[in-house]
Amino acid sequence: MKLTSYGAALEVTGSQHLLEVNGKRILLDCGLFQGHRKIAFEKNQEFEYDPASIDAVLLSHAHIDHTGNTPHLVSKGFAGKIYCTEATKKLCEPLLLDSAYIQQQDTEYFNRRVKDTALEMDPIYTEEDVKLALEHFKGLPYDTQYTLYDGVKVTFFEAGHVLGSSMIQLDIVDQEDGKEKRLIFTGDLGRYKLPIIKDPHEPDHADYLLCESTYGNRNHAPIEEGVPELARVINRTVERGGKVIIPSFAFERTQELIYSIHLLFDRGEIPKNLPVFIDSPLATNLTHIFREEIELYDKDIRENFRLDHNPFDPSQLKFTASVEESKELNFLIGPCIIISSSGMCEAGRIRHHLKNNIEDSKNTVAVVGYMAENTLGRKIVDGEKRIKIYDQMYKVNAEVVILESFSAHADRDDLDRFIKGIHGLKKIMLVHGEQNQSEAFAERIKTYSEAEPIVMEPMKPVEL
Ligand SMILES: [Zn+2]
Repeated sequence: MKLTSYGAALEVTGSQHLLEVNGKRILLDCGLFQGHRKIAFEKNQEFEYDPASIDAVLLSHAHIDHTGNTPHLVSKGFAGKIYCTEATKKLCEPLLLDSAYIQQQDTEYFNRRVKDTALEMDPIYTEEDVKLALEHFKGLPYDTQYTLYDGVKVTFFEAGHVLGSSMIQLDIVDQEDGKEKRLIFTGDLGRYKLPIIKDPHEPDHADYLLCESTYGNRNHAPIEEGVPELARVINRTVERGGKVIIPSFAFERTQELIYSIHLLFDRGEIPKNLPVFIDSPLATNLTHIFREEIELYDKDIRENFRLDHNPFDPSQLKFTASVEESKELNFLIGPCIIISSSGMCEAGRIRHHLKNNIEDSKNTVAVVGYMAENTLGRKIVDGEKRIKIYDQMYKVNAEVVILESFSAHADRDDLDRFIKGIHGLKKIMLVHGEQNQSEAFAERIKTYSEAEPIVMEPMKPVEL
């Protein structure tokens, strides 16, 4: 059997890996390339393989960089089924519809800039394509083996990364050599003790591991420090009379923030009447799904809240639905928290909030998520003093804080622990990491594992 990466090789976005086994072509994840808007738009135009040749798709979790290309795949001729956990299936509907809306906006943006109408582009996919793609989705329960094809069985286990996230285990009888082989794809591996979701499954045996390496060469601040650190940032900003602006992914990170802020209100650690705005229609929809899925959560969330007290529904929370309501936030006087997307600041309402608030030294921009290379968010993280938003330059006078504890990705110690627990590994293929992270991690693996680490390169197949 053979594995080839078509995305998320030497980079952290656009996850797509093709497994060829027993005459079948199985795609592990079908993500969109995300990041700098123009680069992303161009990169997502074409597939490097024929979508009609794919037999099945297995999705690790609902993040768009793992699922966002499925409507495009279907529109280009894919006719098979798309398997994932039931929660991922549910979450994919609002996430993919939002993605279609962004594609449409990006196309309009691109077309406004081209002089020649012959060069105008169509969106990569539309809401109609999303609806057609959703018909191909099949949700499967966790921890339950499902026979995909003769000699190919799949099981989804908890990955501990986001609601519905899974690592995908394939148990194969390879017709080429008659051998039994187990391949595990981590998807995005979460962290132990993350709030809200359960801890990652710990497999004890596999032959091959396709492993993410986002933080293969770094450790995060401990999770326990996240909420107190957030309280200090909020209180400091409130004392200055400023606003806390938080660029956040609409899915999971926003709900984690709501949960953490709710805890701080309940414990009296931040001012009681501080308004919290969720300024993202997508985050609003997803928060409603989170309010319903309590049974998928970890024990800690149930311990911290009584059943009649929904963790995702503090009384200070306000959702801004319309663009007008969002714009009204510009005129709001006095301290507040504004959580808005997109997470990497490349699009969406967050750009307005940054534009209106980043020049005022009373305010704080709190970074809680991964910022890919070349994005506006990365420039803020890198401490650039002047940034460009909507073709205009702005001075960064606001305090910029990076709250690393909020990462939902395993760090180096978590990855080590995960790999050390798996016996029998022959090859570990590293993906979903920038080159320096994946390469350093490959060297590190050699110090404690017999397995051969391979840093996957785009379109370079590996025999298994
Ligand atoms: Zn993810």
